[in-house]
Amino acid sequence: MNTTPFSSLPLLPALLSNLDNLGYREMTDIQAQSLPLILEQRDLIAQAKTGSGKTAAFGIGILHKLNPAYFAIQALVLCPTRELADQVSNELRRLARFAENIKVLTLCGGTSMRPQITSLEHGAHIVVGTPGRIRDHLGRGTIDLSGLQTLVLDEADRMVDMGFYEEISGIVSACPARRQTLLFSATYPDDIRKASASFLREPAEVKVEAQH
Ligand code: ADP
Ligand code: MG
Repeated sequence: MNTTPFSSLPLLPALLSNLDNLGYREMTDIQAQSLPLILEQRDLIAQAKTGSGKTAAFGIGILHKLNPAYFAIQALVLCPTRELADQVSNELRRLARFAENIKVLTLCGGTSMRPQITSLEHGAHIVVGTPGRIRDHLGRGTIDLSGLQTLVLDEADRMVDMGFYEEISGIVSACPARRQTLLFSATYPDDIRKASASFLREPAEVKVEAQH
């Protein structure tokens, strides 16, 4: 199998050396296909199975352009469940270790709003959450997405299956028009085509059939 090292990408040296520390040296197939497009700031639809390394694909894209000195929500990752949101947050925190002060906040339903509102008041660079709860914060005016640069729809097919289309649509409307949108999905049914057409701008498409 052909492999490509992360070091072939125009990444920040500190980010590269942290990937090396994590034992990430060769890109998985989805990373090799998507990262050049993500780093060019293209919108992207990426279709790949579970376990193919999608989190690092969008995580590296988010972190490469994140400004740690600007304390605003620069990236929002929507996930179908709390469990997945926690996994993504943990992976983003590992990937973000190259900088001292990148704050990742997880916002999911099923817990009280008050502590989340306090956390939002303290600020975060990246928010990972489920659509219902993020929509709820938007409705109450407790989350500010005006500084957002990257929106990620992770496991988009599962989110749509769970009935989150309207919530996602509402969240997208609250994001700045000038942003990068990345949609990851294991399958590509009609609902996801519809979502892509309304939420993404001239997206590139990549598809990985087999697992790495
Ligand atoms: P997906 O979101 O596609 O299901 P994940 O992003 O959760 O997959 O990644 C699956 C596993 O692969 C994780 O344990 C992650 O740490 C690991 N991983 C991701 N990219 C690489 C890489 N380039 N080299 C080694 N391990 C990797
Ligand atoms: Mg994943």
